Amino acid sequence: MAAAWRLSELGCRVTVLEKDTAVGGMGKTIAIGKYAVDYGPHTFHIRETDESRAIHDQVARFFGEDRLVLTRGTRVLLRGKEYVYPLEMLQVLTGVSPWLSARIVFDYALATVKSTLSPPTHEDSFEEWGVRNLGRTLYDLCFGIYSARVWGLPTSQISSKQAQRVAKLNLKNIVLRTLGIKADPATYFTKYMYPRKGISRLYEGMAHEVRKAGNSVWLESPVVRLEREGERIARVVCARNGREESIACAGVLSTLPLPQLVGMMTPALPASIAEHASKLRYRSLKLIYIALKRPRLTDYHWVYLLDGHYRVNRMSEQKNVSPDMVPPDRTILCIELSCWCDEPLWRASDEEIYRIALKDLMKMSYGVTEDEVEDYHVTDIATAYPVYELNFEDHLIPVLEGVHAIGNLQTLGRHGLFLNNSMDDNVLLGMKVADQIASGGFNSRDWLSQMLAFMNLRFQGK
Ligand SMILES: Cc1cc2nc3c(=O)[nH]c(=O)nc-3n(C[C@H](O)[C@H](O)[C@H](O)COP(=O)(O)OP(=O)(O)OC[C@H]3O[C@@H](n4cnc5c(N)ncnc54)[C@H](O)[C@@H]3O)c2cc1C
Repeated sequence: MAAAWRLSELGCRVTVLEKDTAVGGMGKTIAIGKYAVDYGPHTFHIRETDESRAIHDQVARFFGEDRLVLTRGTRVLLRGKEYVYPLEMLQVLTGVSPWLSARIVFDYALATVKSTLSPPTHEDSFEEWGVRNLGRTLYDLCFGIYSARVWGLPTSQISSKQAQRVAKLNLKNIVLRTLGIKADPATYFTKYMYPRKGISRLYEGMAHEVRKAGNSVWLESPVVRLEREGERIARVVCARNGREESIACAGVLSTLPLPQLVGMMTPALPASIAEHASKLRYRSLKLIYIALKRPRLTDYHWVYLLDGHYRVNRMSEQKNVSPDMVPPDRTILCIELSCWCDEPLWRASDEEIYRIALKDLMKMSYGVTEDEVEDYHVTDIATAYPVYELNFEDHLIPVLEGVHAIGNLQTLGRHGLFLNNSMDDNVLLGMKVADQIASGGFNSRDWLSQMLAFMNLRFQGK
């Protein structure tokens, strides 16, 4: 949407093809009875960098005059207690038992000595990375158990690239933050921007601008085929109103999951590329909304559940992001449960999924009982998170190269890059690609090298 909006502003002809009934993708607000909720509240990060400020200046109007600027309100539940997240070391060390606290310090010292004496020479697994940076005890306690549940794999089988999201949490940084020393503004953002009526406003605003410029946003129009002529896409075919419609194009920007995109190419790309694409896996998500007959449960936006006895990963409370989306005497929680698309849990009934979430909710220290539940609703996202298995790049790079060998096809977005990035990243890339195309046309090769550099930065936690 960001690319389409920016291209429209720059006077280009654009058609957006969206399979859903609304724009926004995973950053969408849905109505559940009297409640409005996102797929887990989707807040727009405000980083204290020039690049980030430039994006905010451009998109702020879509958030409305009365937009909310929030300070990160995240907690973790660990051994029954709440801790501030990102973690503050003193709080953890004084919160756990003296024995555990001593083990955390001892293991960290041991890990530091080990990695000084024998620095890593090759790409580590997430587990090796964590133990090296945090020591075994802190790693297991705060990341190991949780990550294995989120990703559905032992952390020895997950690439250390997954640490992009927690790289900022090595012990040195935790200590610095505890001492109040300001860290890298690109990664240590604490502020968010949010439209009062839900994140959809951002993308609906962009869609409105696209249409105002005379361009089209076609909803319920899934792309089914990309027709190649030599090394160019000549036409995109979508399903619309019960028949196929073909659109001739100068070029294509795709945010489709890469395996789907490869599968839609006609004639097909070389078999080796399809083979690599089939190895790129996504973790799926069930989102369980539970409405409670009480005005509020917590004061937080998100609560992460680190202990091994939970099956769900995270709980969020929409009202704490925007009170305008939930009635004053009620609250609604969104609980996230990850699974694989091909396991029985994915096909379980809504009632079964709800029961798993409710059981975990009642285990949390907030005293929720079943009698308080007013209603529940279950939805899902099949391709929520790209999974970084060990050496996933051996498959990802050939796919990205194979796709970008087509001169007028460029990929972006979470699924187009297979990158667990946030909305501000994707809006930035959308605007960037639009500026480049408007001034110089499609250049897939050049875009790919920019994207590989960008992904490398994110993999380093920058
Ligand atoms: C639970 C959860 C919470 C998150 N919270 C935050 C947050 O607080 N802040 C933040 O910045 N980021 C957050 N994110 C990340 C954020 O959702 C993504 O960065 C962003 O949505 C990615 O945008 P995208 O356009 O690349 O992909 P998507 O949002 O997945 O959009 C892809 C679009 O493609 C459409 N599509 C798929 N197949 C077809 C087809 N064949 N034809 C046409 N259209 C098709 C889909 O319907 C969808 O609209 C969160 C993600 C999850 C899963």
